[in-house]
Amino acid sequence: MLQNLVVGAMTLIIGIILTLWQTRRIIRPLKRLTLATQLISQGDFDKQLNISSNDEIGELATSFNTMSRDLARYQTAMSSYLETLEELVAQRTADLQLKTDEACQLAVKAEAANKAKSQFLATMSHEIRTPMNAVLGMTELLLGTELNNRQQHLAQTVFHSAESLLAIIDNILDFSKIEAGKFRLIIKDFNLRQLLEETAETLSIQAKQKCLELILNLPYDLDGIVRGDADRLRQVLLNLLGNAIKFTEQGEIQLKVSYLQASQSATQLPLLFEIIDTGSGIAADQQQQIFESFTQVDGSITRRFGGTGLGLAISRQLVQLMGGKLEVTSTPGKGSCFHFSLNLEKNPQAAVIPKININALNGLVILVVTDNASQLTLLHDQLSGWKADCHCASSGEQAVKALIDAARLNRPFQYALLDSTMPDMDGLTLAKTIHSDPQIPPLKLALLSSDGIAQDQQRYIDHGICYFLNKPVTQHKLLNCLLDMLESPESTLQSPLNPDIKLQGNILLAEDNFINQEVAMGLLRAIGCQGRVVNNGLEAVQACKNDDFDLILMDCHMPVMDGFEATIQIRQYEQASNKPRRPIVALTADVQKGIVEQCLESGMDSYLSKPFNKQRLQDILKTWLPVKPDQ
Ligand code: ADP
Repeated sequence: MLQNLVVGAMTLIIGIILTLWQTRRIIRPLKRLTLATQLISQGDFDKQLNISSNDEIGELATSFNTMSRDLARYQTAMSSYLETLEELVAQRTADLQLKTDEACQLAVKAEAANKAKSQFLATMSHEIRTPMNAVLGMTELLLGTELNNRQQHLAQTVFHSAESLLAIIDNILDFSKIEAGKFRLIIKDFNLRQLLEETAETLSIQAKQKCLELILNLPYDLDGIVRGDADRLRQVLLNLLGNAIKFTEQGEIQLKVSYLQASQSATQLPLLFEIIDTGSGIAADQQQQIFESFTQVDGSITRRFGGTGLGLAISRQLVQLMGGKLEVTSTPGKGSCFHFSLNLEKNPQAAVIPKININALNGLVILVVTDNASQLTLLHDQLSGWKADCHCASSGEQAVKALIDAARLNRPFQYALLDSTMPDMDGLTLAKTIHSDPQIPPLKLALLSSDGIAQDQQRYIDHGICYFLNKPVTQHKLLNCLLDMLESPESTLQSPLNPDIKLQGNILLAEDNFINQEVAMGLLRAIGCQGRVVNNGLEAVQACKNDDFDLILMDCHMPVMDGFEATIQIRQYEQASNKPRRPIVALTADVQKGIVEQCLESGMDSYLSKPFNKQRLQDILKTWLPVKPDQ
């Protein structure tokens, strides 16, 4: 029994010892494994377990050691990779900093260069315009003196060449300004119809010289004040119309404007502008190129006509600035149409244009005779718009028949508008025929002509013509023609031309350039004014304190005191001494942006850019000065 107990206890003890030994053999390596894993997780990768046994623990330790070695290798690789990456990032950051610094420096330099360019443009513009003012002004004065034919021709040539040179300079300056991104529109209220009519009028002489019909095709009810850059719109239209005349040998040029939408809104006026010619046309492959700067379709032809190849590039950019796109459709040999649309803002608040009294035309029986279909339609639409009873004839023969028929039906015509140039029977011959035909009752005749008033007036009066209506026919001129014919006795011939009016005024001219003083005084005398010259702003202020002037012409850039400061001081003096506010008109050769605003801000009333001619001087001054009474 005891023996059994001893054997049992021994077995138990051996069992416990074996279990403890076994447990220690498993637990100890597991503990070391746990510790090593913890160390690895803390970043100490290269941990090797020294466990050598042939069982699973040994295998686990071997795998662990392999993993640990791999991890250590990866760590080394990763560290060196990270180091390289850090170096790279540091390098790139340094490079970037350098580049940013360089870019900043470049931007500063570019800004400075741009400023210098603008300044250069302003100076160059000023420097070129000042002598140009003298060349044009002196030549105009010279042309007003007694010259023999040859001298007249030579002076005319100088004058036209100087004008062309100025146009080229203007183009180059505009182009540089657009290129430099310095071009800004000057938005103000303007009368669109008036602008279009004046633009067409400006080119009427050029069109007449090439015997081209210049037709202004506007909706008869287009009126009112719109907002936009009137000067730039005029510039684009002048360029396109000028080109149309240049590249057309026969036929007609139209400046057509039409509403883009049938119903107009109260605030917007979407319009389509078209400049149509019957000229040489442009080949399809050239139609885009011509909008690029310095591009001309045919250098040889263009050389014949002159030009820089900049006009269309500038016009396209200007139209784009105004919110449109200038494009062309053209058929070689038939003609071209340059077109763009603009959405002009209406200004209902602007001073309302006085409505013309057209009641007097209601029911007036009028015959219009011209072979030009566009002109015929236009005149018909306009006259019918005024409620006149308008009939059309496209030749002298048709006109005579219509007049006789009307008389037979006892509904004779009261007025007839006759085109002076028609192929079979010209206007004067037609007038003669009408006047001498006993079947046609007397009626008043107006001659549509491009020649202005004729020298031999009696010949026209003898044939019953009592009015000259100059082409291009504008709404305003047509209305004046009809109203004048309504009122005038038959024997007087009315001229639509402005007589060479003379203004009356005592002018103070502040100008530092001696030649320009002479030019301005000469032009002032030519328009009937007298004046006094001072050399700088300070002298101008003194002169205004000592004497009364009707108007002051103030150069902006003068030594001692510039025109802006002088104007401010004159305005202060007028206020302090309760003197009336005298009109001050700025004179400047600087055409840079902001100059107009600067003039107005300093208290000036208007602005005349140099070079100016007699007409422009007169146009500006007549706003304030009365016309001489003895004319
Ligand atoms: P340029 O001052 O030389 O006339 P533009 O830029 O105004 O320069 O015109 C570029 C060219 O486009 C002209 O030289 C001419 O070849 C062509 N062009 C422009 N307008 C017309 C037109 N109405 N008819 C035919 N060709 C034209």
